[in-house]
Amino acid sequence: MALLSCAGIRKEFGGHVVLDDLSLDVAEHQVVALIGTSGSGKSTLLRCLNLLERVDDGVITLDGEDITDPRADPDRVRRRIGMVFQSYNLFPHMTVLDNIVLAPVRVHSRAPQQARVQAREWLDRLGLADKALSYPDRLSGGQQQRVAIVRALVNEPRLLLLDEVTSALDPELVGEVLSMIRDLKESGMTMVLATHEMGFARQVADRVVFLDGGRVIESGPPERVLGDPEQARTRQFLARII
Ligand code: ADP
Ligand code: MG
Repeated sequence: MALLSCAGIRKEFGGHVVLDDLSLDVAEHQVVALIGTSGSGKSTLLRCLNLLERVDDGVITLDGEDITDPRADPDRVRRRIGMVFQSYNLFPHMTVLDNIVLAPVRVHSRAPQQARVQAREWLDRLGLADKALSYPDRLSGGQQQRVAIVRALVNEPRLLLLDEVTSALDPELVGEVLSMIRDLKESGMTMVLATHEMGFARQVADRVVFLDGGRVIESGPPERVLGDPEQARTRQFLARII
């Protein structure tokens, strides 16, 4: 059974259909890369998975549980599905450690001491141990984004969603963030990531999904979708960006 399953997802904004009968399964430990032009629906899909947006139709299940059921508790879902955005949104007046434990303690009622111990373990594992007591403005953009990823991991989510997490970074800082994502894949983390980095998608993804106009146009192993696409629209997209 898939860890995450989307079936027949539709999302509209003011009559404009942004996700159209979209279905997608993600197995445990799998990494799925969403690609497609700006406006194709990548961010909206990720936001629907995390219940930041409500779908208008269709069902999303996580571990077999229907999270699109109106009775599903969004906070409980977000504890199991971590999300990282393009802009890292760290609070400037709080240390790295306090930034990481804020939501687990305030929103998810975790014991502060336990959350701090776990945050330190993650920082240590991901090469940021010496930054625990620093303020965000002392960190590079790459380090801040890595802290934002740790913040999403500290609840031990079942699934991590990454929305163009390197797009706001200077080119020389992209590598450290991509390398961290590769480490997470090695450790078995299940991830769905929207990216413009086709080289990275090819390296890290088990499956690449090309979206256009809120529909899945084609999906498969990166070598095939990126190297030998079946659909004309995928070929046009790749010809424009590579
Ligand atoms: P992508 O991440 O692939 O660039 P998005 O999911 O951000 O695409 O956007 C898909 C479409 O949905 C775009 O046409 C965008 O303008 C529209 N859209 C996204 N969020 C909103 C919103 N909150 N209100 C109205 N339209 C939105
Ligand atoms: Mg987007």
